[in-house]
Order: sequence, then structure tokens, then C-alpha cells
Amino acid sequence: MKQLCEAHGHIFMDGEDYLTAATLHKNSPVESDIRDHLAAYRERGITWFRDGGDHLGVSLLAAKLAPEYGIRYSTPAFGIHRKGRYGGIVGRGYSDMAQFRTLVTEAVAHGASFIKIMFSGLLEFDRYGHFSCEPLPGDEIRELVSIVHGEGLAVMAHVNGAEPIRAALEAGTDSIEHGYYMDDDCLRLLAESGAVWVPTLAAIKGFDHREGFCDEVVERILAEQQEKLCRAAGLGALIATGSDAGAVAVPHGEGLFTEFRLLEEALGPDWETITDRGNRVLMKKFWK
Ligand SMILES: [Zn+2]
Repeated sequence: MKQLCEAHGHIFMDGEDYLTAATLHKNSPVESDIRDHLAAYRERGITWFRDGGDHLGVSLLAAKLAPEYGIRYSTPAFGIHRKGRYGGIVGRGYSDMAQFRTLVTEAVAHGASFIKIMFSGLLEFDRYGHFSCEPLPGDEIRELVSIVHGEGLAVMAHVNGAEPIRAALEAGTDSIEHGYYMDDDCLRLLAESGAVWVPTLAAIKGFDHREGFCDEVVERILAEQQEKLCRAAGLGALIATGSDAGAVAVPHGEGLFTEFRLLEEALGPDWETITDRGNRVLMKKFWK
């Protein structure tokens, strides 16, 4: 039987407003809120969930509760970013490699099944091709991935922009999250490397026709991502189903079905066969 997999979600977010969610769990994870979200997955038959991390310990509690809902849960505990760059909203920062190693050890001690790292910033939706901050340089990306692999763990990387994506793929990153603005070289490397691409189309769709964001830019980014997915599939690349559930306008449970519709638009009638292959590789590497 086909298993429904939310390959990228944040159980601590509410699909509406980040600050409200962060305030709710500020002192300690609120169990009833987590249970509501887990129930939304159970209702829709979603049995695999990979969290993108949070800085409040919410995903760690969710991982303990998930078996009650028939859900196989996998979490990095928190995401890791370089201090001063993007990532504080879902994790903790390092200033040097010694601190990075310490954070990896702590994540594992807390129950992480893999390590999530931020290699780049967020997309901007009023300026095509722009990001919220500079990406990490390629040599730093290589070092981070090699440290994590040295611990026998897989790397889930938040990364946008051709240059850092190329560096991430060359470094052997196991899953490319978002992965916007890939070029031909990235698509070829993706297919050759065996990394899994989680394009999170639903998260971009959430900004379409939204006050304060430019529809033209949002729609162009989404259409290009879909076109590149089609080419990636043609090259034999691995693609998985993850919506960035919990992010703005991506409700828990329902968000994955928006992702399915957008993947079908991009990949055609074979989308389920294609993503099933990617999901299976992800399941082997990211769930313990
Ligand atoms: Zn995310």
C-alpha cells in the first residue's frame, strides 16, 4: 500500500502565524496543540512525518506522541544555522566548527534522527532571484556535511540558489529542501548524486494572492520550480513529497494535498510513482 509522507513539516507552527505559534510554546511545548496537529495527519491517512525542526522542543515531544496516532515521526530536534544568518526561527546557531560539533552532539542527545542545516536564506517574493541573506560558502558547506556524515547521520539542508545548491550536492547532502533557482548543472548533479529533492511547492503557493507580496514574482518562482521538477524527473532524480506544513497558509494535513496537486501539475500522471521512489529513499535515510 502507498504510504502518505509529509517529508517536510514543522509541527510547532500553526499554518498561519509564526509569532503566535512561537509564543504559544515559548515556556514549554503545549501538548494539546501538538495532539491537534497530529490528529490532522491521522485523519488524512498520513503516516510518515519528517520535521524540519524548532527551537522550543516541540518536535521532540511530538515524536514521543506520534506512535499513538499511527505516525512514524522523525526530527532533527532543532535546525542549525550560522549565527547572523537565517535559521533562528527553527533552531540554534554556531560561530565556529567546534560549536557546530557541539550542537550536533546535543541534537543527537535530545533524540535527533538526522541533522538539519541552513545553507542559505529565504526567498524574497517582491524581488525575483533575491534571498534574505548570503548563502554559506561552498567550503563551509562541505565541512558541515562531512562532520555530520562522520557521525553517521544524514543531512537535511535548507538551501536556495544555484551556487549553494551545487555545493550542497557536491558535498553529498542527503536531502535538498526547497531548492529554488536550480540551474542545469544542479539538476544534473541532483540526478547523479542520489540526493532527494523536497521542493515544498505548497509553501510558495501560500504566498500567491497574499497581501504584501508580489503575485507576479511568486507565480514565476512557482512555475519555474515546477518546470525544473519535470526536467529533474526526466533525468531520473529523486523527488519527495513535503509541503513545509505549518508555514504560512500551509495547514497541517491539508498542506500535503496541496503539494500533491502541484506535483501532479508539474510531473503529470506519473507523479505518484515518481515521488514514491523519492519518499522510499528518504524513509531509509531519515527515520531510525
Ligand atoms: Zn521548513
